[in-house]
Amino acid sequence: MPLVDMKDMLQHAYRHGYAIGAFDLVSLDFLEGIMTAAERTRAPVILSLAESHFEYFDFELVMPAVEIAARRASVPVAIHLDHGASLVSAVAAINHGCNGVMVDASHEPLSINIQTTRAVVDMAHACGVPVEGELGYVPGVEGEDAERHPGEVAYTTPEEARSYVEQTAVDFLAISIGTVHGRMKGKPELDFQRLKQINEALDIPLVIHGGTGLSDDQFRQLIANGVAKINYYTALSDAAAKQINKNTVTSNDSGYTSLVKNIRTAVATEAERCMHLWGAAGRADELLSNCQPWLPVEHLIIYNVHGADKADTETMIAEGHRVLSAIPGVREVFTGEAVQNDAKYRYTWLVRFCHPAVIDSYREHPEHVDFANKLFRPVAGERISIDYQTVAQARSRIEHSSNSEVMP
Ligand SMILES: [Zn+2]
Repeated sequence: MPLVDMKDMLQHAYRHGYAIGAFDLVSLDFLEGIMTAAERTRAPVILSLAESHFEYFDFELVMPAVEIAARRASVPVAIHLDHGASLVSAVAAINHGCNGVMVDASHEPLSINIQTTRAVVDMAHACGVPVEGELGYVPGVEGEDAERHPGEVAYTTPEEARSYVEQTAVDFLAISIGTVHGRMKGKPELDFQRLKQINEALDIPLVIHGGTGLSDDQFRQLIANGVAKINYYTALSDAAAKQINKNTVTSNDSGYTSLVKNIRTAVATEAERCMHLWGAAGRADELLSNCQPWLPVEHLIIYNVHGADKADTETMIAEGHRVLSAIPGVREVFTGEAVQNDAKYRYTWLVRFCHPAVIDSYREHPEHVDFANKLFRPVAGERISIDYQTVAQARSRIEHSSNSEVMP
């Protein structure tokens, strides 16, 4: 069960003065290394997938592994889309299993940033998914991340931040106070006065991108002033690369598995250091009892068809599969025909929603309404429709209530 509601997770960190690492992963070695660190330190963790990294791995292929890693963990985990470029990316991320999304329109003029972010928030909130926006601009270091994040630094102002959060309804805000994506050159100067003012103006969890190269003391000051999520990648990537370089020198075997040996350990060691430094270590159990579990809902329909032949029925089912799969918050659409010839109901739809909020937003979604009214209901007179929540959720509620009981 430890896939949990990311808003609950970051609110807890924000209220209790610690920060949760959102570690970008680019391979299974990173995924396993990050999870090892979280389990070892009993820290909550955010598994983060950056859209700009999708050229290095197949997002659809990696997501089932990420989700299994989260569900089998004993520490609370959330799965986040980092630097989502558009509404389309955010819908795809949610439908593939992310339970938090970032929309980054920070390079656009303010009005466009607000408009783009608001559209993602409306869609994501209807799926129960919280959203991180970005205001101000965190550029990439020349020669490293400058291609992904071109341009000059633009500092976030408290006034703009207040107006941006009011107009977009984002749940978390990434801000720019002097960090850069990639490796810092020299000693980074952070504007803590500005951070303090932004935190006082907003009272929501703040996010820092470009954490690599900051000193322990700078991290402590960030967290003391409202930073509850720290995006972290470059140092993990450096630790992995260093390990590979070491392997090329020390190993007698030049094969692939020898070159990538111990990358998991290298990633885990650096992630573990961060979890201790940021105060997330040891928070897993208290956080678990304060977070809603993140569990899907199965929307089941069983029905019989009247007034349509087999070919028409198959066309209707194929069209429904296409339309319904694309609705935000729909994880999977299963369409089936009864195995037994004498089944009371011949056909079924099994639509998996990512969260109970989707029961309502799906029902009202124009594409669903259109399909149901025009193609489905006219031929499916006899039908039963029920939404089922995963039983594990009920079990976790019982655990919650029994945990909170004072035993005599
Ligand atoms: Zn970033």
